[in-house]
Amino acid sequence: MIVASDKHERFNEAPSPTWQRQLSSAIRDPHELCQRLGLSEAWLPGARKGHQLFEVCVPDAYLSRIAHATPDDPLLRQVLPLGDEAVSAIGYVTDPLEEAEHRPARGLIHKYAGRVLLIASPNCAINCRYCFRRHFPYSDNSPSRAEWQDALQYLRDAPSIHEAILSGGDPLAANDRQLAWLVGELEKIPHLKRLRIHTRLPVVIPDRVDSALLDWLGTTRLQKVMVLHINHANEIDQAVIDACTRLKAAGVTLLNQSVLLRGINDEVETLATLSERLFEAGVLPYYLHVLDPVQGAAHFDVPDDEARTIVTQLREHLPGFLMPRLVREVPGEASKTPL
Ligand code: SF4
Repeated sequence: MIVASDKHERFNEAPSPTWQRQLSSAIRDPHELCQRLGLSEAWLPGARKGHQLFEVCVPDAYLSRIAHATPDDPLLRQVLPLGDEAVSAIGYVTDPLEEAEHRPARGLIHKYAGRVLLIASPNCAINCRYCFRRHFPYSDNSPSRAEWQDALQYLRDAPSIHEAILSGGDPLAANDRQLAWLVGELEKIPHLKRLRIHTRLPVVIPDRVDSALLDWLGTTRLQKVMVLHINHANEIDQAVIDACTRLKAAGVTLLNQSVLLRGINDEVETLATLSERLFEAGVLPYYLHVLDPVQGAAHFDVPDDEARTIVTQLREHLPGFLMPRLVREVPGEASKTPL
């Protein structure tokens, strides 16, 4: 996984770290995915159709947590392309959060007061079928080091901004040399206090949390928050728990956000088990998002009334500190909207 700006720099580098090799060998063919998981040929036409719209990508480390020959496995449903993705649903669009309206500099999105989002990598370690950025124009928003200068200047000129959020794609799909450089530039901006990283990589490939990552993350002066993205307790195996332990030892506060997804985690017991398992891994539940209406993902939607009922019942099962906040992101609003 190489971001454009680093292709030249990496020419004479040492062999790739383990996580990059795992990423390079991820399954990117729907036929192979169905074969490896023992799915019948009947799934293949739909998988090929969905793959044409948003390509499949599943690394082995994630695949190993999916049950064999089980089409309704909650992890499989997150990654298996379906013919349903070709259905046009009213209100489902390519840019559901209207992010195109909030890009004052290349690679930078500024929607909320006090914080900005930096697209630190156009790549992901997994392609989640419900992703609200499945149509995002990453090629227009993947700055080289020289091109980051506009975004950095924007931050220098905005003393009210105290938090930089690394996003993507998945920001940890960028290599550590690039990330250490970017965070080093952010550290020089005196009014920045916090670095927040939204990532799925420690869950998808736990080996991503290696010494190279911990080196720059553990030494930055910025306060560090990592928001993981876990939708189901089955995603949290021992390797994920160990990765979270390493992150916490580096001084990172760990939170989780989930998306409420039809057929994956739309039951009270499933969400309660997820919160319990997150806490065992040292992660606090943060948000439970309702689905953003992105084209191709309507089959995952859980209506607001049902979502509220699920969360009301969930409250009866969990202590308050394990309750995620049910929210929707509404374009133009000053913050996430509680439901
Ligand atoms: S890892 Fe995040 S950004 Fe990447 S496809 Fe999944 S949800 Fe989307």
